[in-house]
This record gives sequence, C-alpha cells and structure tokens, in this order.
Amino acid sequence: MKVLFATSEIAPLIKTGGLADVSGALPAALRAIGVDVRVLVPGYPAVMSHLPEQHEVAALRGLPGFPNSRLLAGEMENGVPLLVLDCPDLYQREGGPYNAPQGYDWHDNLQRFGLLSKVAAVLGSPDSPLNWRPDLVNCNDWQTGLAPAYLRFAHGVPSVMTIHNLAFQGIFPPSALQDLHLPASSFGMAGLEYYGNLSFLKAGLFYADHITTVSPTYAREIQDEALGFGMQGLLATRQADLTGILNGIDTDEWNPGKDKLLAKTYSASRMAGKAENKRVLQAQLGLEQNPDIPLLGVVSRFTYQKGLDLLLEIAPGLMEMPVQLAMLGSGEPQMQHAARELAERYPGMIGVHIGFSESLSHLIEAGADMFVMPSRFEPCGLNQFYSQRYGTPPIVHATGGLADSVINCSDETLENGTASGFVFNGMFAGNLYSTIARAVETYRQPKRWNALRKLCMAKDFSWETSAAAYREVFEKVLQQRR
Ligand code: ADP
Repeated sequence: MKVLFATSEIAPLIKTGGLADVSGALPAALRAIGVDVRVLVPGYPAVMSHLPEQHEVAALRGLPGFPNSRLLAGEMENGVPLLVLDCPDLYQREGGPYNAPQGYDWHDNLQRFGLLSKVAAVLGSPDSPLNWRPDLVNCNDWQTGLAPAYLRFAHGVPSVMTIHNLAFQGIFPPSALQDLHLPASSFGMAGLEYYGNLSFLKAGLFYADHITTVSPTYAREIQDEALGFGMQGLLATRQADLTGILNGIDTDEWNPGKDKLLAKTYSASRMAGKAENKRVLQAQLGLEQNPDIPLLGVVSRFTYQKGLDLLLEIAPGLMEMPVQLAMLGSGEPQMQHAARELAERYPGMIGVHIGFSESLSHLIEAGADMFVMPSRFEPCGLNQFYSQRYGTPPIVHATGGLADSVINCSDETLENGTASGFVFNGMFAGNLYSTIARAVETYRQPKRWNALRKLCMAKDFSWETSAAAYREVFEKVLQQRR
C-alpha cells in the first residue's frame, strides 16, 4: 500500500506543535509495518537546508491559480522519503510556517496551503507527474484540508483527513473559491462553505473518505456543541467514518535512559539521576535549591485551550502548600505577563521561561516531580506521555487524549497496576487545586509515590499500536472504494 502523507510541519525540521511530532514519527512507524509512506511538506528554509542536494523529481507548472513550483526528493534521518514542495515565492522566507516573525498570519496563507493541498491532490490524480502513485492521501489539519476536495473533483485516489486540532479551521472569504479554482457548486453546506466563508478544514471533513482524529475521546467530544467548533453537525453525520486513534511518541527521542538533553540520565531501576535533574532545573530557573519540595512542571502553549489561567489563579494557594512551579511556553501576551508577574512575586518558588526550548522542555519533564496539563480540550496531547515515561506523574483534566492516556491514582488502580497520574473532572480552579493537593499528599508517601512512578515508566506509548490502527483505516477505505 502506498500512502502520501501531506503535512505542513514535521519534527525535527519545522515544528509549532503536536502535528510536527506525529509527522516526524507516524510515517516511519507505518513504513516499519510495510506501508510505503512518503511525506509531502512545503520547502520552508528549515526544510530546504536539510536537503543535501536539490534533486528535482517533478516540475509543477500551470496549476491554475498558483505560481510554478517543483518537487524535490529528500529523506528524513529515520529513512522516511520526503517530497519537498519548492516554491520560493511562497515558502522561502524567515518566520514561522503560519505567521510572520511579528506574529500576524502570513497574508498569503491561502496560496501557501492552497498549493500544498493542490499538489497533494495532483500526486493522487490520474495525471500525476510522478512515477510513484499513492493509493491514498492522508491529509493533516486545515493546511491540507482542500486536498480531499481537489481529489474528488479530479477523480483521484481516496483520502483520509486527520484532525489534530479542530480549533484551527483555515477560514477565508468566499472570493477564495475563484482564487483556488474550485467549482462554484462546492460552495454550500454540502461542501466547503462554513457560515458564509470557505473553510479548508470543512472541505477535508466533507470530501474525505474517512476522518481520523488523535484520540477516541476527542472523536466523541467533537460531535457535540461544546467542542465541535461549529463542525459538530457534519461530524455527527459522518460518525460511521470517524475513528479516534491515540498518538504514540518517539521513544528514542524521549528516553530518560539516553536523553542527551538531561543533566543526568536515569531509568526505573536507577532513579538517582532524576534528583540531579531537579537540582539543575531549580538552578536554571532560579528556584530555591530544595530536593524535598514538590516541583510542578509545565511545557505548553500559553493559550485558553491549555487552561493555564486556572493554574495561575491558584498559584498563590499553591505557594502555601508549598510547591514550586517551573513553566516553559509562549503564547497569549496577557498570560505570559501574568506568569512573569507571579515569578516576580514569588522569587525562588515560581520560575518562568517564555519562549520555545527543546532542551528545557526535556529538563522539565525529567526534573519536575509532577507535570500539570489542565487543558480545556486536548485532542491528544503529548506531554502527558513524555512525563509518564520520565517518571513525572501528570495532573490532567479529563478531556480528549488526556482522558484516554492517564489513569487516576487510587488504592484500586495502584493495586491493579494501571495508575499513571491524577485526573480531575470539571474545569474549575478548585478542582485543579484539590487534585494537586492529592498529588502532593501521595508524593509525601514515598512507597506509594515510587510505586506510581514505576507504573508510569513501564507504560508502552510506542507508535506501533497506533500505526497498525491507521493501516486498518487505510485498508478499510481502499476496500470501500473498490
Ligand atoms: P499542541 O500541539 O496543542 O501545542 P501537544 O501536547 O500535542 O500540544 O504538543 C506540543 C508539543 O510541543 C510537545 O512536544 C511539547 O513539548 C512541545 N512544546 C510546546 N511548547 C513548547 C516550548 N515552549 N518549548 C519546547 N517545546 C514545547
């Protein structure tokens, strides 16, 4: 089976969030079980500089509405073949994949991701310029959401649309329809129209043969108004074609026994190194050097979705407990400001680093005693996996992938060997506070705490199981089209 995996980011080359981690790992896991996956990704500077030479495999000229471009062949370090969409006018510039360095959306995102979608569809269409023809195209998030529509109109191969986060929908004014050379008939409720505008994601959800999302709980939640972001009606009608598959993690990159970004490596049978990471983390963030005080870690985008406002709200109460807080992230200016202010108010107790830092994120996973994720919604989430693997029990809100991957610690779950963190229901500051208090109480009972940490570290979050589930979906889609 040949699958084209179309994505707008891929770790370690270019990353803004979880989509990059999935793109960096799932294709390799699929290849390991016999699926011939190739990854289509835009030629941003970080991707182009990864290509040792510019080996052109196809010229893409005259695609209506788009500048000329070409495809270059490359390879990820893990052996996954890359098809790099080289279009300097659209992708060769400093800044993020979606935003300019000043933070605003690129003015031409319509063309940038219209072209990415279009090319994904061309490669799956009868007139593809490549020798390698996929049997199926797997699209990821709104940036490739138009591909299922283009594929439909070109009588191309089937497509699977994967939702990593329904909150981002790629919405453009109705005039985009002409710019993208889409048929007028597609602009309706039964098509890619979304409240009078055009939505890339809606196109994907409507025209794809199958939809997947990154956890079974999120697959259910997005069919309801609260988390459906206006797409709940469409998703509910497509329930039979909607599958939730929990993400795995890159167990080589996230391995406390081999992690080069740590102050000291450790494992379930050699836990001493963890304490050294705590000491170094405390030093790096200007926290009081105290091995006994529970240290809570956060690595996150600072947005409403992630619920960090609740954590900031209860911070003064947490200081009385007492616990220390180590926070890394960036996002909404008010939240960054509030976090910085708390760090100033409680020197030695709250350390905040605003920015993106791969090495500090690893050190926090290893050096913290517990990891906090009070997300309002979380399609899958990755940090709760990393923290379990690093023996840092996560404290999470019961939503999406968090609900599917963290089992609340109790006498019963400790005994039956399933406990892996602390879970709260109801998105209220008081609930988060009492759950942190419960975690601290457990931390103060070394036997219980060590048992919990061991259970966390023994969990298997490798991609194998998820990759097999994706393959099953792909097979089902191909059978249905036959
Ligand atoms: P989302 O994709 O919604 O941001 P996920 O938990 O699925 O959330 O994935 C986020 C990924 O990005 C994780 O690997 C996390 O460690 C990483 N990350 C988020 N913020 C930062 C940061 N400031 N520095 C380093 N890594 C970060």
